[in-house]
Amino acid sequence: TVPLLELDDVRKHYPVHRGLVLRRQVGAVRAVDGVSLRIAAGETLAVVGESGCGKSTLARLALRLIEPSAGAIRFDGRDVTHDGRSALKPLRRQMQVIFQDPFASLNPRMAVEEILAEPMLVHGIGDAASRAARVRELLGLVGLASYHADRFPHEFSGGQRQRIGIARALALKPRLIVCDEPVSALDVSIQAQVVNLLKDLQAEFGLAYLFISHGLAVVKHMADRVAVMYLGQVVETAPAKVLYAQPRHPYTQALLAAAPVPDPAQRHSRPTLGGDVPSPMTPPAGCRFHTRCGFAQARCREEAPGLRTIGPQHEAACHFAETIPAFARFGGGARH
Ligand code: SF4
Ligand code: MG
Repeated sequence: TVPLLELDDVRKHYPVHRGLVLRRQVGAVRAVDGVSLRIAAGETLAVVGESGCGKSTLARLALRLIEPSAGAIRFDGRDVTHDGRSALKPLRRQMQVIFQDPFASLNPRMAVEEILAEPMLVHGIGDAASRAARVRELLGLVGLASYHADRFPHEFSGGQRQRIGIARALALKPRLIVCDEPVSALDVSIQAQVVNLLKDLQAEFGLAYLFISHGLAVVKHMADRVAVMYLGQVVETAPAKVLYAQPRHPYTQALLAAAPVPDPAQRHSRPTLGGDVPSPMTPPAGCRFHTRCGFAQARCREEAPGLRTIGPQHEAACHFAETIPAFARFGGGARH
């Protein structure tokens, strides 16, 4: 079957210039550097990585808010890689976005009813009465039925504002929602509520999610499949169950080890991911992770490992993926 969304070896490089008069290109930030992904209808794919790994750029590419430097993007089998504004309009209805900061993404001068009706207005859907009815319906879907739609965003809590953001994303009955860290800015106690709401809405409407997150913990109960990104590339991808039980890439293992531990007493006994993320302008030669990898060998500094199949639906980009123990402590590969 045709995937709902497909990214095929997609790249986004931003040229970097120096000099005010003779602007000379001195390099390029390789924000996304050869990523292939597929999302089926009704499926949740989580893309996880530290800040600077390119996941937000990937989200913007998937939404076709930006055009890739290379590669192809297909929605429902249609090539939309280079589509312009008007050609993209039908796509905009089918693909919506929820942002990290609901407050920044909601116009503070617009009442909630205007915020929710706006996408319908932009796409010329319905009349005033049917839009008002849809606004009430949307508020009900996100658990805000008892609130007056003439209120403004600042009259709502952070979690409620994110529900408004979700309602707005639902307004046009999309098939895919790109969720760019939708719960990162929320209190931990509220995060689960929003994640559960997203799951309920998915079950009800058969939505697909591209769920961007900087940590693996948030997406554990949400994702069908997970893709872990490092410096613009996918380093491991697997069904969620497999990835959490048998992470094979040292970076995935490090991210799992760095996941927040509920018991504060244990928090400091966990290994952490040391070192800085190298610049995406000058990624390390060979394996891009070798500067931080506890398993790195001479080969890793010279030869870039490609993403390859290491199990059913399980791919990893590491020369030694098969021999690294599934639950190796990060940095503990070569114990002396
Ligand atoms: Fe580490 Fe080498 Fe695997 Fe890269 S290829 S993740 S440096 S062991
Ligand atoms: Mg980001």
